[in-house]
Amino acid sequence: MDVKKVLSDLKRRFPNEPEYHQAVEEVLMTIEDEYNKHPEFEKYNLIERLCIPDRVFTFRVTWVDDKGQVQTNMGYRIQHNNAIGPYKGGIRFHSSVNLSILKFLAFEQTFKNSLTTLPMGGGKGGSDFSPRGKSDMEVMRFCQAFVTELWRHIGPQTDVPAGDIGVGGREVGYMYGMYKKMALENTGTFTGKGLEFGGSLVRPEATGYGNVYFLLEMLKTKGIDIKDKVVAVSGSGNVAQYTVKKLISLGAKVVTMSDSNGYIYDPDGIDEEKLAFIFNLKNIQRGRIREYAEQYGCKYVEGARPWNEKCDIAMPSATQNEIDGDDARALLANGCFAVSEGANMPSTPEAIAEFLNAKILYAPGKAANAGGVSVSGLEMTQNSIKLSWSREEVDAKLQSIMKDIHAQCTLYGKQEDGYINYVKGANVAGFMKVAKAMMAQGIL
Ligand code: NDP
Repeated sequence: MDVKKVLSDLKRRFPNEPEYHQAVEEVLMTIEDEYNKHPEFEKYNLIERLCIPDRVFTFRVTWVDDKGQVQTNMGYRIQHNNAIGPYKGGIRFHSSVNLSILKFLAFEQTFKNSLTTLPMGGGKGGSDFSPRGKSDMEVMRFCQAFVTELWRHIGPQTDVPAGDIGVGGREVGYMYGMYKKMALENTGTFTGKGLEFGGSLVRPEATGYGNVYFLLEMLKTKGIDIKDKVVAVSGSGNVAQYTVKKLISLGAKVVTMSDSNGYIYDPDGIDEEKLAFIFNLKNIQRGRIREYAEQYGCKYVEGARPWNEKCDIAMPSATQNEIDGDDARALLANGCFAVSEGANMPSTPEAIAEFLNAKILYAPGKAANAGGVSVSGLEMTQNSIKLSWSREEVDAKLQSIMKDIHAQCTLYGKQEDGYINYVKGANVAGFMKVAKAMMAQGIL
């Protein structure tokens, strides 16, 4: 494979899609050696077929706001690859959403889903609609309008969406309700549903808990105990909240959380009571993280990210490219020895290079945050067999999957000096399964 040529062709055919180019480049650079051991891959032009989504749906979403004004947003669904199972991946509602961001997410999702050991292909969707500042009724009307277009492209064996930034239980409920009405079926064609209508226990917790389980596996390779370690977390949404919850229960000290306006630094650590305040602030009041600093009298830094604060472990859980080269150098200079990504592609290529050069424990999102989609896969299974598993059962399965993902990363990522390059390990392990499935199914 000529990585430079593949990338330059993609950039020429799909200009102005920097996040998509970034995600593809990171994967191709790390799978090149393994790919070249298989001349049959090149013969069947596997790489282009794997990089370019199977199909992309783009549509206008029209809805009416509380003032009676007609609003339009863009809606998208990327069906990236279904070699190993139905397309599967979240829906993102955020003003920044565009084709490039969703194509990078769908590409990453394909490898992540492959790593989970469950039969799921990769997809992603979303809209440039932002639920922030909207009333419940506006969010409902938007979700219904979005699904009125999307529903014909999805289904329990075709494509199963879930949540992501800006899409939590409320939004999934509204979308699933409309889907059911349009499709006249109740087969669970969304995951992250409410418990009363087919949702799985532990799904809300799964991405955050899964990330901590993955971190524990990494720490185990060095004989390090999580107790009393100082952790910097970014974000204050679904993934960040449950990451912090699990960390507190294990005796770690979480000192930061953030939102898109700024971050809080609480040197005493966020305890259970303070975390309950955040759950209420973010999920019920839909307020800003600044209000935590006002409530507990700690530092709030407007317009900044938390990576200059001293910590042992960083768990970015907000959004893509939120740790740049300078942030990575600041973390390392302050003694940070582990980074485990809850968000998708939160570290820039420069930041990743810093972490790998310093040989710290560094887990890319596609491995560390795969717990969310894994429990989504378990939700699909429960819907199919029309049974619900207990909290303990789902949590045990989640822990076992995260251990398995860690083992796959180690298999392909362990270097001669013993250092585990989790980026390479995750990319190669994820790639090989999809590649073999594609080869077996012919030229499509
Ligand atoms: P939420 O919408 O629940 O929370 C997102 C958090 O990140 C909020 O605190 C938000 O702040 C902040 N944020 C969003 N955009 C930006 C930005 N541009 N700059 C700074 N902060 C930002 O989303 P999730 O917690 O579900 O998702 C967080 C990350 O985890 C995403 O990268 C997502 O793709 C990834 N992920 C999520 C999974 C899931 O199961 N939910 C599964 C795997 C990965 P504000 O409130 O100001 O918007």
